[in-house]
Amino acid sequence: MQRDEQIFDLILEEQDRQINGLELIASENFVSDQVMEAAGSVLTNKYAEGYPGRRYYGGCEVVDVIEQIAIDRAKTLFGAEYANVQPHSGSQANASVFHACLKPGDKILGFDLSHGGHLTHGSPVNFSGRLYNPVFYGVEKETGRLNYDKIQEVATKEQPKMIIAGASAYSRDMDFKRFREIADSVGAILLADISHPAGLIAKGLLSDPIPYCHIVTTTTHKTLRGPRGGMILMGKDFENPWGITTPKGEVRMMSSLLDAAVFPGNQGGPLEHIIAAKAVAFGEALSDEFFRYTLQVQKNAKAMAEAFVKRGYDIISGGTDNHMMLIDLRNKNITGKEAENALVKAEITVNKNMVPFDDKSPFVTSGIRVGTAAITTRGLVEADMETVVDLIDRVVMNHTNEEVIEEVADEVNAMMGERPIFVF
Ligand code: PLP
Repeated sequence: MQRDEQIFDLILEEQDRQINGLELIASENFVSDQVMEAAGSVLTNKYAEGYPGRRYYGGCEVVDVIEQIAIDRAKTLFGAEYANVQPHSGSQANASVFHACLKPGDKILGFDLSHGGHLTHGSPVNFSGRLYNPVFYGVEKETGRLNYDKIQEVATKEQPKMIIAGASAYSRDMDFKRFREIADSVGAILLADISHPAGLIAKGLLSDPIPYCHIVTTTTHKTLRGPRGGMILMGKDFENPWGITTPKGEVRMMSSLLDAAVFPGNQGGPLEHIIAAKAVAFGEALSDEFFRYTLQVQKNAKAMAEAFVKRGYDIISGGTDNHMMLIDLRNKNITGKEAENALVKAEITVNKNMVPFDDKSPFVTSGIRVGTAAITTRGLVEADMETVVDLIDRVVMNHTNEEVIEEVADEVNAMMGERPIFVF
């Protein structure tokens, strides 16, 4: 077979983009060579419907061992009694939890997408808002933070069957203990979606949802620095008190209901090459080196937020506890879309993002979201954050000036081009 030069040339082009640019998308990261090697391995050839030791296909002896190692490492990493490493993505993990715990039409209480929540937490354009009946909590206008008394009020009024604690664009730590009190007060299932801060949570740098939330979902590719994928965890398996049964009406432990909701409920064959890559990433995440990495991610985000504030940028909630921040650009007279486009030309990648109480559409937006997970992997430290913010500021303040944008692009290339993709 002839080598597909068209596609491999494009992959090289993308590799150059990743190496030479400043990657500030809060949900992205760079995996290690060994994670990449596992993801690109012969395991992609294998079908393995089912779970280790109970498959619907022959020849699963090796992948059984690999998947069990991934499960065991995930459990150790998060101090969990249960892990399902098969969800193909964070959305699939959430869909599986909903499928296990809810019936179509059941009420869910999630973080408003326009305030920082995720599509799968009840957005009307997503399965979660179409199949279920979503109501929302959001942040306070004055503080940009969650107000747990207000969440309690909404929960008491709406009596949701499930509450989702988690976000895609919230820079503050979450009080999972308080969320559990709210959930218990209305008899709701509490799901934490820790997709964004999972790596920081695993290393004890943020509040731990495992002791408080009935179920926890996460992606594996953001601060956790694994391959693209999802995972479901539980601190303790339990016999559910909500009368949830299998489609056949059987009462089972929650672990069994969740496993069945992933396969055969939502997915067919698991991606064993990705599961192997997850296992490798979890192994890395168990190391002290990964603790130092996540600590640096957090320190870099703090330093970056301070540098933005110093230049008059309006960071929602005034700062960050985790790896990211949401910037309201309205006082800089530029939309999120204009900022994203100008920054991309300068080889700085961010994403436009709605800010709480935004008056612009999701295609335009008033803000951008930035994160430090990827640049920390490239080896940038606190002292570099001033430079990074200065580069961004020059583009934002001169977003129609091609000369300035080109100048910044050259500086970005000089700063990043010589660095290996994976330093830390
Ligand atoms: N949940 C949260 C909080 C997220 O931020 C994301 C992704 O951005 C997801 C779920 C979905 O993950 P995926 O893109 O893998 O479906």
